[in-house]
Amino acid sequence: MYEGVLKKMKTAFASPIQYYLDMKTDFINMNQLLNRTISMKLIGYECLNCHLERPIYRQGFCKSCFFEIPQAADWIMKPELSTAHLDKEDRDLAYEKKMQLQPHIVYLANSSNIKVGVTRKNQVPTRWIDQGAHEAMEIVEVPNRYLAGITEVALKDHISDKTNWRKMLTNSIEDADLNVEKERLSVYIPEEVKPYLKNNTQETHLEFPVTQYPEKVKSLNLDKTPEYTGILKGIKGQYLIFEDSTVFNVRANEGYVVKIDVI
Ligand SMILES: [Zn+2]
Repeated sequence: MYEGVLKKMKTAFASPIQYYLDMKTDFINMNQLLNRTISMKLIGYECLNCHLERPIYRQGFCKSCFFEIPQAADWIMKPELSTAHLDKEDRDLAYEKKMQLQPHIVYLANSSNIKVGVTRKNQVPTRWIDQGAHEAMEIVEVPNRYLAGITEVALKDHISDKTNWRKMLTNSIEDADLNVEKERLSVYIPEEVKPYLKNNTQETHLEFPVTQYPEKVKSLNLDKTPEYTGILKGIKGQYLIFEDSTVFNVRANEGYVVKIDVI
């Protein structure tokens, strides 16, 4: 029996990818639970910032934390809004400088379709794992988040920036040649970013621990169904995939306090 507040699973880039769930007193290697029956029960909420038992609003934070702390500011989801390179504060300039003024990568990832995305360089390949991408490639490396953000915005007019999570989870995917896509898109990269275009780029391929893909998926919502039991058949992105086609997005349930039993 494990008990703790859900946080996104930690991962290790291996074949297949290894997943770990941090349950306060235990660090569970989820790969070892494949084909086992797992039951999960919602027992409360705990904001990942203030640790108070409050309803979770977004990203694992309660409403007041979400609108106050620098970890939940708009530039996280919209990198083009970054202003630390101008010495301009949003919520906490010291934090923003630390996070924004470091190498960032603009990448192409194929999880259900090819999409463009931005991440801090030290989050490669973690970011790709979390998205359930089976192949990905860096295309641009820039010295700050703002430049990555304006590149993504420019490319969004010509390629998706979203994953179709149903397709990703049913493995309705095709291999693509990301270098061909990079060539096609490179003309749309903003002039000030062109010097940062990467040469000799190579695809990274990712293998997820899935023993059986569902044909269609139904998403488990703990607020509506506070107790669930099922046989774990796979892990992809931040989703647990069960035998009865139920899928559970661990990341979307950050801040939920659960009891987990392995039967
Ligand atoms: Zn809070």
